[in-house]
Amino acid sequence: MELEPVKTFLGATAANKIQPGINLVGICYDGTTSFRPGTRFGPDAFRDASYGQESFSPYFRTDIEDKKIYDLGNLPQFTSRFDRIQECFAELVKEADLKKSKIITLGGEHSLSQIPVSHYLKTYDDLVVLQFDAHADLREQYLDDPHSHASVMRRIAEAMNEKQKIVQYGIRSGTKEEYNYMESKGTLMPNFKALYDFLQESKAPLYITLDLDFFDPSELPGTGTPEAGGHSFKEWIELLKILKDKTIVGGDIVELSPPIDSTGNSNSFAAKVLRELIAIL
Ligand code: MN
Ligand code: MN
Repeated sequence: MELEPVKTFLGATAANKIQPGINLVGICYDGTTSFRPGTRFGPDAFRDASYGQESFSPYFRTDIEDKKIYDLGNLPQFTSRFDRIQECFAELVKEADLKKSKIITLGGEHSLSQIPVSHYLKTYDDLVVLQFDAHADLREQYLDDPHSHASVMRRIAEAMNEKQKIVQYGIRSGTKEEYNYMESKGTLMPNFKALYDFLQESKAPLYITLDLDFFDPSELPGTGTPEAGGHSFKEWIELLKILKDKTIVGGDIVELSPPIDSTGNSNSFAAKVLRELIAIL
């Protein structure tokens, strides 16, 4: 009898601690979701959907099976305890060298991104956090919660030194205050050309935080706060073609909400988005 292997993303090796190479970690947290919960099911949906896909990326002529990829599974589930998730993640990375290990965190809701980012900010003193998102996520606080998904980039900005920087692309929703903030700090890339020019000039290490509502709801409906007028998968590939020559040190993909799209197509879409990100690392 042969036992079924532990389910990992696209044939990644199961591991229980951070390894040199690419590490996937799921955080099943949707404690502050304001509109429609469900992202706690996101991490496993990436893995399940990946079983229908090839490990070969035709866009980058790369088989991700040739890379050192480890899937650590999910953090213990404390769906409403942000502080406990912080502690668990800190424990996980305690002995890891983030200059040798790239962590891709799978959400879960966007608020959790500040947890991995906080460790990368300590590792790289000129880190650029590149946010792909429909929403600015710069609120001072939201629904009385400073750790809300709607405040995540504000919290990250507050944790930064003067050399570290936020760059935002795809934003098409925010309050007047958030737009004022983006304008005064120069964080918003209003179009592809602006982002392209920034990336051409920057040599800084990049952390990518991808909120899946960056994509248009016609392509990816399975997310809690859809916003019309978004980007396409083809544009994601064009972005990755530029990013592949950059130093990407870590990232996260958040806000996949499987219960919202009962066809499962959004899960497959998200798994392919992740495969292509891994292909350029
Ligand atoms: Mn968003
Ligand atoms: Mn977001």
